[in-house]
Amino acid sequence: MSARIRNIVVVVAAAFVCGAAAAKTPVDPARDPKAVQTTVEAAYAKYRGLQEGKNADYIPALAKVDPNVYGIALITVDGKVFTAGDLATEVSIQSISKVFTMARVIEDQGPAAIAENMGVDATGQVFNSIVAIEHYRGSEMNAMVNPGEITSTSMVTGGSYDEIWGKILGIHNNFAGRSLSVLEDVYKSEAETNQRNQAIGRLMFAYGHIKDNPDRATDIYTRQCSIGVNVKDLATMAATLANGGKNPVTGKQVIGADNVPEVLAVMATAGLYDDSGKWLYRTGLPAKSGVGGGIIAVAPGKFGIAVISPPLDAAGNSVRAQNAIADISNALGGNPYSITPR
Ligand code: GLN
Repeated sequence: MSARIRNIVVVVAAAFVCGAAAAKTPVDPARDPKAVQTTVEAAYAKYRGLQEGKNADYIPALAKVDPNVYGIALITVDGKVFTAGDLATEVSIQSISKVFTMARVIEDQGPAAIAENMGVDATGQVFNSIVAIEHYRGSEMNAMVNPGEITSTSMVTGGSYDEIWGKILGIHNNFAGRSLSVLEDVYKSEAETNQRNQAIGRLMFAYGHIKDNPDRATDIYTRQCSIGVNVKDLATMAATLANGGKNPVTGKQVIGADNVPEVLAVMATAGLYDDSGKWLYRTGLPAKSGVGGGIIAVAPGKFGIAVISPPLDAAGNSVRAQNAIADISNALGGNPYSITPR
């Protein structure tokens, strides 16, 4: 082979290798479940030693949670489960509950009820911002931040505290596929220290978004945030959204498939608060975080994924969870905006 021909062969081979790399086919859970498990375990191992972030401490009980708790679960829309790390520990669901209480309101009253009351726009502020309320007198925000969600909780109908609470716990149970219970120590700790949320509830009442009894709404909201969940519960909840509102583990249709797009849209807009844009840019996934250390993310039509790891970044989002979910989803082609050209 002449030197010139050898050069051409090398260039063509290199182009082929680069092209193949650019078009890397995602790991497909249906065809290659072993590779999915390897991907989940690799992400677990990669971030186990990461020491960034710190537990939320404005709720005293959360500061006491072991920061080394770390678990990952991925559940496909056909109910296959992939896990790594701590599957047993329950943390408080915190703000992730906002998704499911909002889903309950949308299911009962239609998507317009949420859009017209607190709105469906990003605030660009922290999740418990009072400035965000003042800016538009409690409108033009969303149910993923405290003012919007305390309002959303107040919209769940019922003749008594217990009846309203029963509906809220019920929708969480249906999404998780088992009976969940409140972590009473977390509830007590937050109820004793949630004066800021009480102020937020009263302001939303003052602006007419909460119709009556703002203190009751704030208390029920605090209770819903204290529901205990393990990482498989969270992944099942996410997978139910990924599967058009039908729980892929229990087979129960939890909310109408018609209502799922609106739920996912609000998660995409504001699920990671004022870092939601960065998150969407990185993964394309509707997601929701909680200050207990959990994050859920939804790859529509594909899978739900959850990670629990308490240390949070400045925006209040789990550091290990963001990294592990991004790695796994990107390896599995989870980004709904990522299309292979025809
Ligand atoms: N219960 C918490 C609060 O209201 C939830 C906040 C969160 O998870 N971002 O402050």
